[in-house]
Amino acid sequence: MSTVGNGAHILVYPYPAPSHIIPLLDLTRLLLTRGFTVTVLVTPKHLPILQPLLSTHPSTSIQPLLLSHPPKPPNSGLIAKVRASSELYHPILQWFRSHPNPPVAIVSDFFLGWTNNLARQLGLPRVVFWPSGAFAASVLDSLWRNLPRNDEPHNDDFLINLTSVPNSPVYPWWQLSEVYREYVEGDPDFEFFRNSFLDNSESWGILFNSFSDLEQIYIDHVKKELGHTRVWAVGPLLPPDDVGSATRGGQGAVSHHEVMTWLDSKAVDSVVYVCFGSRGVLTSKQTEALVAAIQHSGVHFIWAVKANGKGHVANDAGAILDQFEERVGPKGFIIRGWAPQVAILRHRAVGAFLTHCGWNSVLEGLAAGVAMLTWPMGADQFTNAKLLVDQIGVAVRACEGGDQFVPDSTELARLLAESVSETEPKRTRMMQLCDAALNAFTGGSSSMDLEDFLNRLGELQRKEL
Ligand code: UDP
Repeated sequence: MSTVGNGAHILVYPYPAPSHIIPLLDLTRLLLTRGFTVTVLVTPKHLPILQPLLSTHPSTSIQPLLLSHPPKPPNSGLIAKVRASSELYHPILQWFRSHPNPPVAIVSDFFLGWTNNLARQLGLPRVVFWPSGAFAASVLDSLWRNLPRNDEPHNDDFLINLTSVPNSPVYPWWQLSEVYREYVEGDPDFEFFRNSFLDNSESWGILFNSFSDLEQIYIDHVKKELGHTRVWAVGPLLPPDDVGSATRGGQGAVSHHEVMTWLDSKAVDSVVYVCFGSRGVLTSKQTEALVAAIQHSGVHFIWAVKANGKGHVANDAGAILDQFEERVGPKGFIIRGWAPQVAILRHRAVGAFLTHCGWNSVLEGLAAGVAMLTWPMGADQFTNAKLLVDQIGVAVRACEGGDQFVPDSTELARLLAESVSETEPKRTRMMQLCDAALNAFTGGSSSMDLEDFLNRLGELQRKEL
């Protein structure tokens, strides 16, 4: 095992949401393996996600720094949450100044662009970690930098053409991130968010959870825009084994053993895994349509269903699911809560994944070599689906749309059945990309980028930057 880090101390600061914490902790594990000492800043609420790393590494290598994000005003969204996070600026500064061996660099999430000023004040490099891909980063950067607006405010289909991004992607207004669409010029919270976002480009370096065979053109674009090469694509970041994947992101709502036993009884590539990320909650109408589609398709399936903020599956969707579960019997496994997603995707019985195209899910699906059916709903998911379906050609577009959208269950049933059939149209291309993803990380482009990044970080200890 190499000790490239020589004990250099790094502060890792993920944005406090599971899908941002998960990949950054996968990176943290690699830092620990390579001889770095790490402090991970987490909120008390998210400490359990860190627990598997804390329990498998000595406290001399990894420590949590528990700081609560100040409460945001009721009913406020991401914008207020990001602004509230910056109230940790001075507590973190104090912590650095009183630490006997303070970190030599900060690696923080792209929502925490304000940490770049903090790092500057401390005279340290900050590395921005993008839990999404370089294509999504290029799109978001183009939006927040150039502020294209909807010239026909009542027309949600108004087209926004991002000519500064490679392949000039075009989006109907409704597919742009909700936060961007709601931007109000001059509003202090929005301006803070925008400036914090743009500060990412001023950071010393950038890490993408991606790999070159997937996004080379966009990785090169980011390098060109920044005018330097401290841009590393080190993905796909994944847990190394099933033990790691069983507890990744949280304690499962069902035991790992129970899910694996159920899958063991199924034929190779016969099961569709359905999940819409760490928070995606379907409306009752969407649940009904998906229930009808799955039932009509006749496929075996695992469906990981999330509860809404009140701890319930959306509205009366809970009852719809209860009845469905009784009807399908052993053909289906409904998980109400957190599922061991990576372990499920890696199981030989799983042949397809109906996904909302969150970036982590995209990478996990690619690395598992499953056929993917895309149903993007918001955030960067339309961009991710565009990459998979239109640009790389490894996935099939199932449908698209958020809360107001209800899929056509007959068409969805057809696609679900096809996804686990021998005529699945994208499997060959998918397997090629799966090989590329795994190779990238085992001696290929991502492992070389990671090596370069770790070497640069290791040098910081010796002030050779
Ligand atoms: N995940 C999981 N179990 C679940 C739901 C999600 O392990 O029941 C993990 C999934 O493997 C992925 C992350 O949570 O690593 C979700 O991230 P993604 O970017 O796909 O979607 P988001 O939650 O940001 O919408």
